[in-house]
Formats: sequence, C-alpha cells, structure tokens
Amino acid sequence: MNTVNLDELKQLLAQTEPAKRKFAAAQFYRHRLGWLPHPLHGPNDKNVNAKARGKKPRRKGWKTWTANQVTDTLVAEWFADGAEDNVGIVVQAPHCIVDLDSKADNGESVRRWLGRQPHLAAVPRERTAGGAHLHFTCSDLPPITKNGEPYNSALVQELTANVTAEFFFGGQNLVVAPSLHVTGNTYEWEVGGSIPTVKWQELKQWFGFRLPDEAEPAQAHARRHPGRPRKEPPWWVRYRGDLRSVDLVAVVKILGLGAQVIDADQGKHSIECPWRSEHSNSEEPWRASDTSTTIFCKDDGMNFPAFKCLHAHCANRSLEHLLELAERHSPGVVDRNCKFERAWRPNQRSRDGRPRVPLPHIGRPDSVFAAEIGNVLGPKAVWFRKGPFVVMIRDEHEGESSRG
Ligand SMILES: [Zn+2]
Repeated sequence: MNTVNLDELKQLLAQTEPAKRKFAAAQFYRHRLGWLPHPLHGPNDKNVNAKARGKKPRRKGWKTWTANQVTDTLVAEWFADGAEDNVGIVVQAPHCIVDLDSKADNGESVRRWLGRQPHLAAVPRERTAGGAHLHFTCSDLPPITKNGEPYNSALVQELTANVTAEFFFGGQNLVVAPSLHVTGNTYEWEVGGSIPTVKWQELKQWFGFRLPDEAEPAQAHARRHPGRPRKEPPWWVRYRGDLRSVDLVAVVKILGLGAQVIDADQGKHSIECPWRSEHSNSEEPWRASDTSTTIFCKDDGMNFPAFKCLHAHCANRSLEHLLELAERHSPGVVDRNCKFERAWRPNQRSRDGRPRVPLPHIGRPDSVFAAEIGNVLGPKAVWFRKGPFVVMIRDEHEGESSRG
C-alpha cells in the first residue's frame, strides 16, 4: 500500500475518458494506497471566495472520516459524472506531505532547490502549480500541539528567500493530482515509487520544521526569568567536531558543488554557491574562475574557516549557514569531516595522539583523576620528570623508602 505505481496510474488515466479521470484517480488512491479521497470546490466555483477555490472541502465532517465511510458508491457520486470538483485527500497518519512552494516563479526555484537535494530525488512527488508535494511516512511524528492544544494548521518553514516548505500531517486536507489549480495548471505526478519511512528528526533536518510548542530560541529566551538574560550557546556547539579542523572543501564537494583553489597560502577557494539559484545570474553555469563565492580554509588549527558570497541574497550567510545546509543534506557530515573533536568523550586523544584526562572538578574527585592518570602512566614507562628531578613512579609499600 506504500508504493505509488506511476506506470499503472498513468495508464489508468490514459485509458479513462477525461470526465472520469478524477474518479479513476480517487479510486486508485483508495485501493492502491489506502488514502481517503474527498471532493473539493473546483477552481472556477463561484459559490466560494476566490481563496477557497480549488482547495476547500465540499462536505462537512471530512476531518473524521474513516475508510469505511468513504465507499465506492460515494466516491462515484462525487467524481463520476465529470464534476468540476477537485480531488483532495484527508491525510491519515503516518502519511505526511511536504508542500514546497515558490509561487512567484511558478515553482522554478523549488525545482532548482530540489535539484540540489539528491537525498530527496526518489521521494514520490506531485508537481503542483507552485512547486511540489513530497510524500513521506513518518514513523515517530510527535503530537503537534500549540500551548498544549492540538494544532490544525500546516507547519511552515522558509527554506530560501523564494522557497517555502509546508508540512501537512494527519487530519489535514491536501489537494492532489489530477486536480486543477486556479492558475490553470494541473497537479501531476512526476516521481513514483515507494513512499519512504522517515524519522521526524530527518524531516526537521531537511526542511527545518519546528513544532509550534518548540519555541524559537529568541522566544524561549524571552520567556525565561525577566531581567536575567541567559546567554544563548554559540551556534557551533551543535557540532562535536572542532570546526577549526573541518575540511570545508570536502564538505562543499559532498554537497555536489564545485571548488577550485585560488590562493593556496591563504587557503582561498572559489566555490559554487549552494544558493546560486537565488543569484541574479543563476542561469549561467558556474565557472571556477568566478570568485564571487569563496571559502577560506587555512589548516592551521587556529581559526574557523570562512564562507563569503558577494551576491545580494547571500549577504548575511556565513559558515554557520553553509554547515547547516550541509547537515540538512547529509546529517553528520560536518563532524565526519573534522580532524579533531571539540566535545569530550571517554578515551579521547589529543591532537598529537596523547590520551586526554579531564581535570578534577565537582563530581570528579582528585582520587578518580589520580587513578586515571595512574592507569595511563602505569603500563607506559618508568622514568618521568618532576620539576628538576628525574623520578620513577611505583607502588608504595610500608617499610620501603617513601621517595617515589
Ligand atoms: Zn550566493
């Protein structure tokens, strides 16, 4: 029930007279995918206001419909006679949909954005008037609430200046192919195949969604003790790796972007801007000689590398945004490309390979520290330097010299 067999659907629609295609598609959704189709006001329906045309559910009570209530007879009644109604589905968990939109350019920016997301290439999708619908199964979607109450609107997230992502989940209405949009465009399937099962964490990473009750960092800040502002942790704490050691050229290449050394001493490279679709000259292919987008990565272990794009849309974008994009594209990629770790973990070694032992602190008494140091030193060697003396460390027994 979880595969959109595009050949079958296309063949079915081709064999069906135009007036009955919505009925055929609705039946396909019910029987092949287990979805719940229902009728929506058509794009030219003057009985509803302009905004509702093509989208608004026609029947009351649709939110709570079950598969048993939506019968063949009912579906035939709704769609069989060439009605102008559009086809919607009542989304049922765990099915969920990401609606990507760039209305201003009829979906051009969405298609360019998708072109840079190879991990989304095989996700079944419909082409819509303003972009695309991507269909997922989310196995661990948390309850979506606002102030503790169920939240019934799609979650919205801006991906770029032109591209918006909306998240539709169980209990919501979604317009589906072959509905007709008010602009005259028909919703159409363009990628078929198996609907992937994904984790909520992945959807968050890829599209930046946030639950309504998950406050934005700035809001969370405002809600805490007034008069005692809490310092926000810096953006780089989300990485375990030490960003002073990140191989940014490798990360850029993993993103599928070009990179070319300009000045080896400075570690300066020209790269293809990941937000190039927003540049004014986005139609021209990228050339390595184009130095308007650069990264600086001097592998001296002293500073973070830097990202700079001179195009207007990218004025505020920095290393932080480049790495965030890379993480969305390939979770964990930043840490995997750091030579050294910033965050502590047991048995970690320092840059030159020596074992690291945390100093004593609250909850970590001197005795534990001393024992760990002993464990490290014990099996290694005999002679050490203590101030000006060469000493030997050994167990102390009563009756022996106490000099150690
Ligand atoms: Zn740029």
